[in-house]
Amino acid sequence: MSTTATRYDLPEADAFSRPYWDAAADGRLLIRRCRADGCGAAHHYPREFCPRCWSEDVVWEAASGRATLYTWSVVHRNDLPPFGGRVPYTAAVVDLAEGPRMMTEIVDCPEAELRIGMELLVHFRDVGGDGPAVPVFRPAAGAS
Ligand SMILES: [Zn+2]
Repeated sequence: MSTTATRYDLPEADAFSRPYWDAAADGRLLIRRCRADGCGAAHHYPREFCPRCWSEDVVWEAASGRATLYTWSVVHRNDLPPFGGRVPYTAAVVDLAEGPRMMTEIVDCPEAELRIGMELLVHFRDVGGDGPAVPVFRPAAGAS
């Protein structure tokens, strides 16, 4: 599988982010939570320090997987593999129930049915092989 062409949709796991991708493989979305006094902020994507107060006392926390749609853009053209074979797709920014805002993709929802604030649930796309499971979101009403 290492001879495949370069792909631009697969994140690189390093020692820091490995727990995140291991959880994703199990179908769980992790966020980071600051434990500093007076802060307690949750954030995403994962960073080694709190983006609000710069504390390094930050731990992993399982997110509920619930989110609401903040904004989106339907992408009709992307020349980077493998996106070219996947257009159109819906790139989106969602607000996780825990607070952090996350860049992702909406699946299983026609463009005409997208609404700001609509309820979403996380879903993990299996990219096959040894690739990581990538979190995407779909309408909560249609989720099982
Ligand atoms: Zn903090």
